[in-house]
Amino acid sequence: MNILIIYTYPNHQSFNNAILKVVQQNLSKDHNVNTLDLYEEQFDPILRFDDTHKRRDLSTVPGMEKYRNMITWADHIIFIYPIWWSGMPAMLKGFIDRVFTAGFAYSYGKRGLIGHLQGKSAWIITTHNTPAFLTPFIQDYGKVLKNQILKSCGIKPVTHTQLAGTENSSDEKLRRFLDKIANIAGSI
Ligand code: FAD
Repeated sequence: MNILIIYTYPNHQSFNNAILKVVQQNLSKDHNVNTLDLYEEQFDPILRFDDTHKRRDLSTVPGMEKYRNMITWADHIIFIYPIWWSGMPAMLKGFIDRVFTAGFAYSYGKRGLIGHLQGKSAWIITTHNTPAFLTPFIQDYGKVLKNQILKSCGIKPVTHTQLAGTENSSDEKLRRFLDKIANIAGSI
């Protein structure tokens, strides 16, 4: 299976980077694995269009071809990111805006969006500080990427593994979470 890891975190001294390493180390060697580190890549997350660069042409913008090809190549996409202001970092949101474009990732049908990325699955891994008992009652925290974006583009199943209270977690809780990630990665 071709697996694309999309990692969004500004530096390598972080718990999110520990998650990335655990995922990379535990995926079976039978898979082809490619990691896209959006900050290392210095990805430009700003979507631009104007009178000469039309919105309808966003799915063929040459600068994004590399990323469209990565998505096309992948059978399974793993997203790793922290929750910032209830959702994904702006860097990742900009990646979605610029790469998951109409004509490439979906098109408009009479009854809503038609996903073009069928046959792919995804795993979202997020960390946040809010206590776990609150997250079912608050908006986003990974739900938007899972339900409104990936599923709308035809990607399913999409699973989500999240760690609540990250910065206040004991070393033991952090270790148990990394063990859980290792087990899931190893089972893919
Ligand atoms: P870190 O801060 O790097 O580490 C967390 C813990 O893990 C620390 O105890 C650290 O010592 C330990 N650790 C680090 N590296 C390792 C390692 N390699 N192995 C084992 N342990 C390690 N939270 C919310 O709940 N809701 C919000 O809306 C929200 N908005 C935010 C907005 C912004 C702009 C920012 C910066 C933060 C926001 N947060 C929010 C908090 C954010 O979600 C957490 O800071 C983040 O999820 C923690 O992940 P981290 O990788 O930065 O952890």
